[in-house]
Amino acid sequence: MGIDRTEMFGAREGNGGIIRCDACPVLCRIRPGRTGACSRYANEDGRLIRTDALVLAARNATEGGEIVPFLSDQPNWDGNPITGKDVFVTGIGSGTTYPDYKPAPFIVSSDYEGVDTVTVVTEGIFSYCGVKVKIDTDRHIGSETAAVRVDGEHVGHITTAEYGSQMLSIGGVNHLTGGTKKEGNVTCRSMMALCNKEAIEVAIDDGSLLIIQAGKAPIINGLEEQRMRVGCGSAAIGIFAKQWFGEADEVVVVDDHITGVLSEHQAGKVLNMPPSGIKMSGRRSTPGRYFQVAEPGSGWGGTDIKDPLSIIEGFDPEVAWPGMRLLMTSTTGEDAIYCVLDEELRPVETDMPQALKIVVGRIGENCEPSLSTVLFMGGAGGSLRAGVTENPVHLTRSVRRRLTRVTMGGAPVYVWPGGGITAMVDVMQMPDQSFGHVPTPAIVAPIEFTLARSDYAELGGHTGHVTSLEDILAEFSETARREIWRPDNPWPLTKNGT
Ligand code: SF4
Repeated sequence: MGIDRTEMFGAREGNGGIIRCDACPVLCRIRPGRTGACSRYANEDGRLIRTDALVLAARNATEGGEIVPFLSDQPNWDGNPITGKDVFVTGIGSGTTYPDYKPAPFIVSSDYEGVDTVTVVTEGIFSYCGVKVKIDTDRHIGSETAAVRVDGEHVGHITTAEYGSQMLSIGGVNHLTGGTKKEGNVTCRSMMALCNKEAIEVAIDDGSLLIIQAGKAPIINGLEEQRMRVGCGSAAIGIFAKQWFGEADEVVVVDDHITGVLSEHQAGKVLNMPPSGIKMSGRRSTPGRYFQVAEPGSGWGGTDIKDPLSIIEGFDPEVAWPGMRLLMTSTTGEDAIYCVLDEELRPVETDMPQALKIVVGRIGENCEPSLSTVLFMGGAGGSLRAGVTENPVHLTRSVRRRLTRVTMGGAPVYVWPGGGITAMVDVMQMPDQSFGHVPTPAIVAPIEFTLARSDYAELGGHTGHVTSLEDILAEFSETARREIWRPDNPWPLTKNGT
């Protein structure tokens, strides 16, 4: 049985063995043998315990992926002292101290290459947090600002589209706490599932039904998306112009954003391509680049068209000629046709020559696999910052000056410029099941602050609560979950992240 941390996370009440959990504002009164409302804390034989294991990440793995033993109870441990070079204590399963002024659950000291370092480890409760989802697809999934719903509840919206991707913003304090209780709970559950790399189904108002999961291809209206486009229609023209030159007299790359027309485009001009007399629908932006050739949809290139010839209004008889060769393709190369103009200058579809098939195939080859990616974004509140130091603004400044490194479950974060500590992390770089929730509702996420011990003292840290890494390892040798360090994550104790 490890150290009794009851007084750290709560307090014993009366003689009936009841323990009050103080780890969040709900303040559950937990009877012996029971768990609190979030199931993250339990009363075990009169002790308040965190029900999920503390996660320790070890850097030195064998070739087979096994963690080199580093605990005294492990049979092959070589007896060498463990340093900050080997093991990192993550915030996952560490618990939360509340009210805010209490020091964080673990303030771990370790030696890293002769430097005395401190890592302040906790699970932050994030009321101000959200999830950004990038969905690699050309398809129109709904209008910008359209509501995103789960089980009918409004949990987010479509935000600004990016290059080759549609973007969702899910969660945020307004959905968590500003609407009905059900909206808050469904929002919290959806965010937690996404952050824990699970699939969720979302419906977009007047748009698509999506299944999204971090690191997996999105499923849009029942179809798994395969390819992320090589670029917009104009970019595709620019990239492949030379390869088409001589094989076709005109090439149109159909795209909801910018449809490219080779003979008019700068790429075609530089190759001295003669005009083809093609008349496109839509709005000409600059030569060879057309906006709004059709409505957005799930047809060719993210438009609603199934028949690509419908965006050609005709050919100028003074310029075009019978026998003119026309290639039309989408930005992923998944859709393509080849036509030859007849005597009336009407495009007639015919077999695509091998040389053009190769280039269309190359468009597909240059597309990356379509993925959904999930970034969690949250702002460090009172408990988080006061758990590190009595003077929280010093922590913010230290993070800004890069004296303190912020990680979440060991993963690197991007800290937004400006005030406060608003961090963003790719959930795929974190261990599985890193996130939890409390019923307020809010998201619980691991967070660690690592800095030199001397800097920690200078910023007013809780130096009287520092525990050595060896002591932590000894206490959790039987219960900790051991994870292999993800090699692409920088080691948090180094200054330059190597
Ligand atoms: S909801 Fe969970 S964290 Fe909050 S007081 Fe209850 S058991 Fe503790």
